[in-house]
This record gives sequence, C-alpha cells and structure tokens, in this order.
Amino acid sequence: MQQFNTDDIESLNDRFESATAAEILSWAWEQFGTMLAVSSSFQSQSVPLLHLISRHCPAVPVVFLDTGFHFGATLRFRDQLREELGLNIEILHPEIQQNELMQRYGEGLYRRDPDLCCHINKVEPMDRYMVGKSAWISGVRRDQTAHRRTLRTIEPAAGGMLKIHPMLAWTSRDVWTYINDFNLPVHPLLEKGYFSIGCAPCTRPVGAGEDERSGRWAGNDKTECGIHTESGRSAGDSDSN
Ligand code: SF4
Repeated sequence: MQQFNTDDIESLNDRFESATAAEILSWAWEQFGTMLAVSSSFQSQSVPLLHLISRHCPAVPVVFLDTGFHFGATLRFRDQLREELGLNIEILHPEIQQNELMQRYGEGLYRRDPDLCCHINKVEPMDRYMVGKSAWISGVRRDQTAHRRTLRTIEPAAGGMLKIHPMLAWTSRDVWTYINDFNLPVHPLLEKGYFSIGCAPCTRPVGAGEDERSGRWAGNDKTECGIHTESGRSAGDSDSN
C-alpha cells in the first residue's frame, strides 16, 4: 500500500482545493480501487454522494452500519437506492447482538451513555471493517458541525490509511439543488421534518428555523456518533462521529 507522508497530503489538499467531488472520487478510485470504502447512513443528504459514486466508481463498497436501531424506512430507502443506483452495499453489524446489549447494559443505553452505545454499534464495527483498507470516503460537510469545519479533503488516519471527504465544501443548499437537478429520491421521513436521520431513538424531527442536525441526540451535547472523530484516528490526534 502506498504510504502518504505529510507533504504528500498537503499537496493533495492543495490540488483538491477547487476540485469537484467527482474529480476527487475518480482520483480515489484510480489510486485505491476496492481497497477504498465509503460509509453512508442512507439519509436524504447521502443521496448526492451515492449518486456520484454510482457514476464514477460503482464497484466501491458502500458500508452501512446496521445498529439494529434504524427506522424501518431507512432500511427500505437503503434497499431502494441499492436497486436504483446499482450500489455495492456491505452491511456491518455490531459484535454484540441487541439482546446481549440489553442483558449487559440494561434498557436505554442510548439515553444513559450514547457514546458507549455508538462505540459498540458504530465505531467498533467500522474499525474492524477498515483493517487492511487503504482509504475511507465519507460525505461529511463543513457546514454540518464544529468538528467538521476543521477537516480537510484528505486527512491522515491510523495505519497509513487516508480519510477522503469529497463533499466537504458542499453546503446544504448544494445538496438539495443536486437532488432536485437529478430528480433523485429522498428519505420518506423527510416530509415529516427529519432533515438528518440516524438511529430512531436518537433522532427527532426538526422544527421551523432549527439547524438541520438539531434533531440528532437532542437534549445531549453529543453531535457526532464517533465514526468521524474516533474511527481510524491518526496517531497523535487528540480529538477523540
Ligand atoms: S445513534 Fe443512538 S441508538 Fe444509534 S448507536 Fe448511537 S446512541 Fe446507540
């Protein structure tokens, strides 16, 4: 696997400063092939990246973390997109089944300790899957959270892996414009106010004038599940989605 040093990453970030998401995806596919993986939560906002993948690198594995807590509508939307876009979806499960999770930690771990719940159900399965992979694409955008504002298109991660963020410079408006322009489907719960969707117990609809991610872990200061802040963390990175 080609190793990228700090200078290489710097020059890639310079090169991709004004690159389109399609150009970044094409480069990643040429560079890494199926040693690349994409993570997706299969919500409305995921659709532009998934559509671009279907056009520029359709064989890339698209990872879905099946926590056991998703809305049924999300699972059906995932399957609809697989069919319509021809995606190569890989479904990951936590090592601990939901009944064992209940036995070990009791009911409502997501309320009492959402970080631990996300770690067991999202971070650990993602880390396990990424062992031996070279690069990980995610659809995070700078306009979503404070942590995401600090990211660059290419970030170093543990074990020489790269994290690639082709949608970083996109805004919420860009996402909805793209969906409209290409007449793409949206998650069925969008019409009920679910602008950002994760697991059912940790997602509520968003009211008028509220931030689109305000319905995630509402009432808790948690803003990331951990896969974008913990998984594949680079050595020396003190920041611990
Ligand atoms: S989003 Fe909620 S239910 Fe899903 S893994 Fe995290 S804490 Fe658990």
